[in-house]
Amino acid sequence: MPVESGLPEFLSGYRDVERVKRVIDLIQQRTRQPWTLMEICGGQTHAIMQYGLDQLLPDEIELVHGPGCPVCVTSLALIDQGLWIAQQPDVIFTSFGDMLRVPGSNGDLFSVRAAGGQVRVVYSPMDAVKIAVANPDKRVVFFAIGFETTAPANAMAVIQAEKLGLKNFSILPANVLVPPAMHAILSSPGNRIQGFLAAGHVCAVMGYWEYPPIAERYQVPMAVTGFEPVDLLSGIYQTIDMLESGRVAVENAYPRAVTFEGNQAAQKLIFQVFEPVDRNWRGIGTIPNSGYGLRKAYQAFDAALHFDTGNIQTAESSICIAGQVLQGTKKPFECPAFGTLCTPQNPLGAPMVSSEGACAAYYLYKRGS
Ligand code: SF4
Repeated sequence: MPVESGLPEFLSGYRDVERVKRVIDLIQQRTRQPWTLMEICGGQTHAIMQYGLDQLLPDEIELVHGPGCPVCVTSLALIDQGLWIAQQPDVIFTSFGDMLRVPGSNGDLFSVRAAGGQVRVVYSPMDAVKIAVANPDKRVVFFAIGFETTAPANAMAVIQAEKLGLKNFSILPANVLVPPAMHAILSSPGNRIQGFLAAGHVCAVMGYWEYPPIAERYQVPMAVTGFEPVDLLSGIYQTIDMLESGRVAVENAYPRAVTFEGNQAAQKLIFQVFEPVDRNWRGIGTIPNSGYGLRKAYQAFDAALHFDTGNIQTAESSICIAGQVLQGTKKPFECPAFGTLCTPQNPLGAPMVSSEGACAAYYLYKRGS
């Protein structure tokens, strides 16, 4: 029987208790030694905690949580730039809701709004384009955060703004990319990741053609993994099976959504508008070619060039260890501020704010407290 009634079959089937038990049995039978896996995506971290999957796995399997939370890794400098732009006269600053409570050096977007700034939550960058059309006397800026998943929509908004001849629309480019982050994690001296669960939604857009050279170079198997309990457990099983048999490959445990090539139309849009640039990840540092910047042909839509944000001084919390949490070297409960000085109501770092943040997941689902 499905765990939750009223769901469409394509979802409830992947939450089915009997199927979950069967995959757990398979994992238990296959696991013979300790293994450390990283789920790269913060959405997967939350799903693992929400369904208690971490508590059903054999003790030999340790899951560590990766940097796949775009709100968490957006650099303090970019957040401070966004805060500064949002305070300028005649600006409507638009953003996904998660960003509003992310602490910058001095406050957050909510505090800018409370002080009279025009900060609006949108559900898509195309909503920001519509706001620009409706407000020709305002400068409308969209905070273009996200992994490869949001990049096609960000690119589409820029193309649409160009088609409409909008001079009052721009984006603050902040997209980050998964493969360079995998390189950074696997090549760091303290790395202990032996297998990866690759993020299914990123791979639905990009495919997984970028991953075999990484798996080969670092001798780390990977499984493309979805977000429902059976999807997550299937990805874990496939990764453990590869590790136990000494096989290094990239397997697809999410074939209903992901192909090797990915969505080529979406990739074409991305590469028309964006090009890889070095990007600073909050708490981690600069990772080469790990972000998307606007190509020269579209730089008229780059808010960072429209607004002179050169003199902003950033000041990070001295307590927050988000960088170590995001790289999987520390668990949230190892942070001295976890659940005391830092809570979802009073966050010191982005991982406690975001719906994909590991600290928020540990707090919400009471792990390690
Ligand atoms: S608990 Fe708070 S202060 Fe500690 S790492 Fe997480 S976000 Fe930073």
